[in-house]
Amino acid sequence: MAQHFLLTAACRTLSLRAIYKAGEEKAYEQLKAIRWASSAGKPVCLRCACVRVYHIATRRRFKCAACYAQFSVTNGTIFHSRKMAFVDLLAAIALFVNVCSKVSVRAARNFSIPAA
Ligand SMILES: [Zn+2]
Repeated sequence: MAQHFLLTAACRTLSLRAIYKAGEEKAYEQLKAIRWASSAGKPVCLRCACVRVYHIATRRRFKCAACYAQFSVTNGTIFHSRKMAFVDLLAAIALFVNVCSKVSVRAARNFSIPAA
């Protein structure tokens, strides 16, 4: 079973400073790498799971070669249809993952669960 993209190592090591320093284009590339971690950052069709997709660079969208569905890096996520910069989306993910990891560490400590 594929690991959820929020649990990947690339997502857990994000820092806010590095995100904003790298800029919008790098944030877009990082978001793609996190979103499609199981295919090394290469987009996978959300409808038919086909790996042959065309990149529509002017709109930052992708088009499936098999079913012709168009999708973006945020389709199927809570960020879909949000008009936010990619650095802000990546920063939101970093904040969420940092908070969740702290909560899980505290819960493990409270229940005396050894760290993995
Ligand atoms: Zn498809």
